[in-house]
Amino acid sequence: MGKPTGFKEFDRKKVPWRLPVVRINDYDEIYTEPKLDQLREQGARCMDCGVPFCQSNTGCPIDNLIPEWNDLVYNNRWKEAIERLHKTNNFPEFTGRVCPAPCEGSCVLGITNPPVTIKNIENAIVDRAWEEGWIVAEPPETRTGKTVAIVGSGPAGLSAADQLNKAGHTVTVFERANRIGGLLQYGIPNMKLSKEAIQRRVDKMTAEGIVFKTGVDIGKDILPKDLQKDFDAVLLACGATKPRDLPIPNRDAKGVYPAMDFLTANTMQMVHGDSLDDNFISAEGKDVIVIGGGDTGTDCIGTSLRHGCRSLVNFELLPKPPEDRAPDNPWPQWPRVFRVDYGHEEASAKFGHDPRHYQLLSKEFLKDDQGNLSGIKSVQVEWTKKDDGGWSMAEVAGSEKVWPAQLILLAMGFLGPEQYVAESLGLEVDPRSNFQAEHGKYATNIDGVFAAGDCRRGQSLVVWAINEGRGAARAIDIFLEGSSNLPAPGQTLGTAMEMSV
Ligand SMILES: Cc1cc2nc3c(=O)[nH]c(=O)nc-3n(C[C@H](O)[C@H](O)[C@H](O)COP(=O)(O)OP(=O)(O)OC[C@H]3O[C@@H](n4cnc5c(N)ncnc54)[C@H](O)[C@@H]3O)c2cc1C
Ligand code: SF4
Repeated sequence: MGKPTGFKEFDRKKVPWRLPVVRINDYDEIYTEPKLDQLREQGARCMDCGVPFCQSNTGCPIDNLIPEWNDLVYNNRWKEAIERLHKTNNFPEFTGRVCPAPCEGSCVLGITNPPVTIKNIENAIVDRAWEEGWIVAEPPETRTGKTVAIVGSGPAGLSAADQLNKAGHTVTVFERANRIGGLLQYGIPNMKLSKEAIQRRVDKMTAEGIVFKTGVDIGKDILPKDLQKDFDAVLLACGATKPRDLPIPNRDAKGVYPAMDFLTANTMQMVHGDSLDDNFISAEGKDVIVIGGGDTGTDCIGTSLRHGCRSLVNFELLPKPPEDRAPDNPWPQWPRVFRVDYGHEEASAKFGHDPRHYQLLSKEFLKDDQGNLSGIKSVQVEWTKKDDGGWSMAEVAGSEKVWPAQLILLAMGFLGPEQYVAESLGLEVDPRSNFQAEHGKYATNIDGVFAAGDCRRGQSLVVWAINEGRGAARAIDIFLEGSSNLPAPGQTLGTAMEMSV
């Protein structure tokens, strides 16, 4: 513990984002350069409370050694801090930028005061390590001669690849997209996670001996059964990419798109330039409605603003969350409270009000004679708690409203992985169509085939994908060698964090 009285002396102070009115004019990251003294003060606020809920239980899913690196930062021992951070997290720059930080919801200081700014500290440690040149390629000294194929290069596939390579196995990652990163690359926009930050890691992993093959769709270009023949083990880390649709009247109106079509094409255009992507969907000059909240909805808001939309509305089906924890949502659970994310802040700065409208049910898309989207009809709903603890929803009579719109983006979550790889292998799936494998074991019903990340647990978070990738690597190492020196990531509780995307 760096400073025993730190939590009494210093208030919580977050590293600020760039000004919304400035940052909506570009796709650069929203973050500002952190001030060293401020970070040390925040590190000093950590109480080293004895039972660090932040790094276990409902806190950090990868058991980051948070009190230890808080102390090291306070004491200006940054190189040791990154060494400690890398023990549990392969990619702290991804989580440091995009993790919703369940650790902060579980911080013991948070019982009485605002919690330590753990996520900011994590991000600053790794950014400094890159700047100082402390992160360099470290290929394994010996190779086992065993080979592993990984299908999918999102955070689950990448963390598994990194761990298996450290254990000396020869790893090949197959990715059907033209760039590595999964949703880090083509889901989460550049302003939240720069594509250079991903490439830097990919370059390091390549220098360490991992082979990346892009533009290869397993199940189409190569049969999964051939991977089984050619490799000693196969890990499926394909993500949960089937979007939830909104099958209301006039769904065929031209101008209604799944959020990922909009976001992927935007990043493609940004990364490759105009000529490569005919699928680009422009929000410029349009009245845009985003249906659904979570990270995907926020990213649609932020991206529409950068296109120069004329107006922006976000429909939420659920009621507005409370400002403070409700009695049935006590510490150390993830606080289900009202939050203002970067997109909401930007919309308020541009249009003078938060874009979210709550308890709105979409009834019908409206279109003109040419089939072009012209608006949407909504109705207000009431939520009532039932005797069995569940909720029932009822429409409010006379509350119908028509909203003008030329672009509507559907950000209502995902329905699990695409099924062609599972079908081709004869893989068992669970009732939600995710690949059936137990958390912590990751083995599917087919010998030598493992599954991890969103394709196993359903759409979740980057930090959970890293938890699963690390865990699957250990399970595969044991399968190949009989035992493993790779660490076992935590078995922390998922709780309501699964809802955030
Ligand atoms: C728009 C959006 C914003 C998000 N924002 C956040 C956020 O701010 N914070 C957060 O923690 N989480 C966020 N998430 C969730 C997070 O990105 C995912 O939970 C995480 O990326 C899952 O990792 P994964 O490795 O399991 O799968 P993915 O990242 O989905 O990667 C799977 C990869 O597998 C590839 N693939 C699939 N099938 C095949 C095949 N047959 N052959 C070859 N390749 C294949 C896909 O192309 C993809 O690249 C967001 C999600 C979305 C959609
Ligand atoms: S990975 Fe997420 S939960 Fe873990 S310490 Fe970082 S911000 Fe907190």
